[in-house]
Amino acid sequence: MLGLMQDAPLTTTAILERGEKVYATREIVTRTATGIHRATFADLGVEVRRQATVLDRLGISADGRVASFAWNTFRHLALYYSVPGTGRVLHTGNIRYFPEQLVYTFNHAEDEAVFVDRSLLGLLAPMLPQLTTLKHVIVMDDGVPTPIPDDPRIKLYEELLADAEPADLRGRVTDEFTAAGICYTSGTTGNPKGVVYTHRSQWLHAIASLASSVFGMTDADRLLPVVPLFHANAWGFAHSPLMGGASLIMPGPDLSPGSILSLIAAEKVTVTAGVPTIWMGAIPLLKDHDLSTLRGVICGGSAVPVSLSEAWREAIGVPITQAWGMTEMSPLGSVTQLRSEVATMEQEVETRATAGLIAPGVQARIVDAITREEKPWDGEATGDLEVTGPWVVRQYYKTDEPGDSFSPDGWLRTGDVAAITPLGYIKIVDRTKDLVKSGGEWISSVDLENQIMGHPAVKEAAVIALPHPKWGERPFACVVVREGATLEREELLGWLTERVGKWQVPDDVAFIDEVPKTSVGKFSKKTLREQFSDRSLG
Ligand code: ADP
Repeated sequence: MLGLMQDAPLTTTAILERGEKVYATREIVTRTATGIHRATFADLGVEVRRQATVLDRLGISADGRVASFAWNTFRHLALYYSVPGTGRVLHTGNIRYFPEQLVYTFNHAEDEAVFVDRSLLGLLAPMLPQLTTLKHVIVMDDGVPTPIPDDPRIKLYEELLADAEPADLRGRVTDEFTAAGICYTSGTTGNPKGVVYTHRSQWLHAIASLASSVFGMTDADRLLPVVPLFHANAWGFAHSPLMGGASLIMPGPDLSPGSILSLIAAEKVTVTAGVPTIWMGAIPLLKDHDLSTLRGVICGGSAVPVSLSEAWREAIGVPITQAWGMTEMSPLGSVTQLRSEVATMEQEVETRATAGLIAPGVQARIVDAITREEKPWDGEATGDLEVTGPWVVRQYYKTDEPGDSFSPDGWLRTGDVAAITPLGYIKIVDRTKDLVKSGGEWISSVDLENQIMGHPAVKEAAVIALPHPKWGERPFACVVVREGATLEREELLGWLTERVGKWQVPDDVAFIDEVPKTSVGKFSKKTLREQFSDRSLG
């Protein structure tokens, strides 16, 4: 027997309509190169519908892909609604890709148009001759006078919008399984892979992320997403604030820790979100700013060292809220909200060191790497982490079949190795390819990094596996020492001997100036492995 409820499609336009009608006066504040731009959710609705008219007038195909190449701004946010609202698909271009990755993704998505911030035109312009599917390059003036290249496809955003009346978006998308957006993975191995979100997945992901066991955002919040709108579906922050009524503070091009902290203070931000490198860089500056309105600092994309969270707690009384996810998961998988069982400070610190409580809507399991049998949730047993849920990818874009990234029953193989506690918190041990396999035993590089970064003289550390004649592989630590501090190899190894099993202590240490980062600010172990490829231990 079928139920008798209405078949109201879950669309991004439904999210927009809730924001503009219920929370019309909530703000979207954008810091640009030249000042502060203020708009409301009601203004966003108008901008979206005018953009929609422009898309129609330009003759973009009914399900054509439209790229963005932009900072976190009001206009970029509007594209999150105008493009899918007209049935087209927003491809959020990653401005930090290497040129080859950029060309690959634009051509792979077959983008017909790109909306580019003028300050980013210098990055995109050299690639334009290779972006052969593009018919329109729409330049959004953001106050930076980058020269406009001589390309017949160039158009100016302000001119296109000047006489564009708002379009009616009602009834434009009726099937909630229609594609709404494409985000490519950061391509740490091989070419980036396309993840195609649906209207339905965006809607469900947005509503779930408001739950108190997830981000718990309300209409009293003012959210500053440092995470770019082009990275991993912006962690859902293009959608959830409109659902929940939280104002958005968009940082624009200046993402240096000091300027982010100034913006938090000036705009009375209550919740902010970004990758660990941003929050690490902010530690020495925390005391210089009035951050009294801040109640949540969300951090994900890589493991959050305990020392990082505790440094924030010490300085401003607000620890870090760790989140785990993947581009493939829209990206939310888990968030370290504290359950009622977490009673003591010791338990809290331990819980905050996990990757978080599995989010409602996501199912997770850990399985043996060889037998694929499920392992218990006892917080100790580790296995390959697999997930399923309505906002988890089922197949990558333009592939014939799911392939080996998925289990035979369709769960996504995350590539992470984890334990799950009896309370449902995920403890990420490592990425499968980053584990150190020493004499048949696995050593977690994440665990070692956590301990090394707990040393007061250490700014950053990454551990990689290097070949060893007896053990196969052994851990090798690459360490960045804080400015003004000194640290000797022996002292660091001694510190570790007191904190981890003797067999886990790295065989050697390299003191480096900086840990190389990927396009989205994560430690690039691939680069480190290349850098130290001629080195062997033992
Ligand atoms: P890519 O896979 O291309 O790096 P993503 O941003 O989607 O791009 O990265 C997802 C991966 O990031 C996860 O599979 C996991 O390895 C890592 N990750 C994300 N959050 C955390 C976290 N809190 N702790 C440890 N690893 C994390």
